Amino acid sequence: MESTAVSHIRTTFKALAAADDGGIGVTRSFYSILFAKYPGMREIFPAVMEMQADRLLDAIAYIVENLDDMDKVQSFLVQLGRDHRRYGITEDHFIAVGGTLIATLERFAGTELWTEEVDLAWREAIALIAAVMLGEINASDAPGVWTGTVVEHKQVLQDVAIVRLQLDQPMSYGAGQYVGVSVPSRPRMWRYLSPAIPANDAGQIEFHIRRVAGGWVSPAMVRGVTPGERWNLSAPLGSLGVDRTTGRDQLMIASGTGIAPLRAQIMEMAMRGNNPRVHLFVGGTYPCDLYDLETLWQLARTNPWLTVIPVSEETVNPWWHTDPAPVTPPGMSERLTGKLGEVVAEFGAWEDRDIQIVGSPSTVQTIKYRLQAKGTPMDNVRHDPLF
Ligand SMILES: Cc1cc2nc3c(=O)[nH]c(=O)nc-3n(C[C@H](O)[C@H](O)[C@H](O)COP(=O)(O)OP(=O)(O)OC[C@H]3O[C@@H](n4cnc5c(N)ncnc54)[C@H](O)[C@@H]3O)c2cc1C
Repeated sequence: MESTAVSHIRTTFKALAAADDGGIGVTRSFYSILFAKYPGMREIFPAVMEMQADRLLDAIAYIVENLDDMDKVQSFLVQLGRDHRRYGITEDHFIAVGGTLIATLERFAGTELWTEEVDLAWREAIALIAAVMLGEINASDAPGVWTGTVVEHKQVLQDVAIVRLQLDQPMSYGAGQYVGVSVPSRPRMWRYLSPAIPANDAGQIEFHIRRVAGGWVSPAMVRGVTPGERWNLSAPLGSLGVDRTTGRDQLMIASGTGIAPLRAQIMEMAMRGNNPRVHLFVGGTYPCDLYDLETLWQLARTNPWLTVIPVSEETVNPWWHTDPAPVTPPGMSERLTGKLGEVVAEFGAWEDRDIQIVGSPSTVQTIKYRLQAKGTPMDNVRHDPLF
């Protein structure tokens, strides 16, 4: 896009986002107009729209911010397009959304700000967004939604469950990627989960799920699941994985169920003959939070390139945890005590490593700060989007 068009878009967006409510009123209005004009569109969205407004605003903000780096915008829109395949989106949907967005922006900007040039610039940007997303949506014959049956639900901690499913059709995903998941008790409320095992032709898939207190969906995924129920999964996304082109050894850092995508990568590596060295730090608050140590130990025992270092913030389990603490299996590094980021950084800056960090958004940020303070080159650090 031309720089004047980019600057028109930025100026209007900045003015709207500077409103007292941070632009939330604009997105609420957008959905009201959309659903009033195109009632059929309501079915695509969840019953509770609370987070939807933030998501739309975040996506537009990201695009506006990066409009002068089209490669970045393009790869973001490709992911967004792939993610939207689950909704069965067509060109008509984009026409409805694009038209509604223009109408909403115009209404909020007012006649002074919404000049002919501004109108043209936004239309150009919206056409570009629709073209890239539709291109990606139509690019593949793979299904928009995979269906699967829960075959096992294992409560490994009070707030963590391992759920195994048999998919009707195998899904081809890279170890380290994540997928959208929707469960029958929370229809259309998709949440991202990272498969904990590599893709396989038999269509088996496993998720490790933590209940977020006050969350809409995760409590139902952890407690209310019964074998036989049917889940929907959407196309794989994300770019975590071992980049073999760098030739560098790997540092993997997992907090809680963040172990899932790293474990999938390690399992995939274990099927290969030649691998870089991997140091995996796996952390939790209490020793009992390290629910997957046995599997990790088995992997480390048979793969000399892998070192697993368990870390917990507390030395003993909470009084209300009645199961015996998991013993660090013989042959595995002793469990270390401390905050995960601090413990990892105590070993040095790890400047010669490719680094992946997986956990809740705040944990990932904290670990990044610790490493940055130690001198770790941030270009070597990767993580999933933090939302
Ligand atoms: C790329 C990606 C991969 C993910 N993989 C997994 C996975 O393998 N296993 C897993 O259990 N979860 C995973 N998540 C988190 C998951 O998608 C949900 O965000 C989480 O389960 C909360 O959903 P909810 O509906 O219960 O909470 P919401 O109703 O969506 O949110 C309720 C509140 O909790 C906060 N919140 C949301 N997520 C978290 C979180 N992770 N930690 C702390 N607070 C949070 C929200 O900001 C909000 O304030 C992943 C998220 C992303 C972005």
